[in-house]
Amino acid sequence: MAFSEIVGSVSHHLREEMLSSRVVHAYLLTGPAGTGKRTLADICARALFCRSAGERPCDVCPACKQLLSGNHPDFIRLKPEKSIGVDDVRDLIERLSVKPYEAERHVVVIEQADKMTAQAQNALLKTLETPPGPDVFFLIATQMTALLPTIVSRCR
Ligand SMILES: [Zn+2]
Repeated sequence: MAFSEIVGSVSHHLREEMLSSRVVHAYLLTGPAGTGKRTLADICARALFCRSAGERPCDVCPACKQLLSGNHPDFIRLKPEKSIGVDDVRDLIERLSVKPYEAERHVVVIEQADKMTAQAQNALLKTLETPPGPDVFFLIATQMTALLPTIVSRCR
């Protein structure tokens, strides 16, 4: 699946950024459930890791295939069962402190970022402000009001 298969200006802007050097450290994707936020974040992740010289993501190069099968060593997905606690965020930060295995960066997708506890958000804040290297975060949320304003302001 490629950017072109997702209609809308958000997809268009993200495609432009992922394929340029203007990619920033953190993106916040908000909106009602079922609107393709996760799909879009996953396409962005593949675009960032894809090795194709043509349109990215190509979905056929080794990096794309690893991501599609959930086996890319530099891709981290946080997916809460009930909530994301401070220990989950500390584990994440620890993983980010290790150099990427294959790519030049880690890409992190935090699903239901609005399920992070306030303590977890505070723990994440510093990493969002000064990430160790060119890591990129995608925060996905349906309830933007559940996120600390300081988190929101760090994200595009
Ligand atoms: Zn690819």
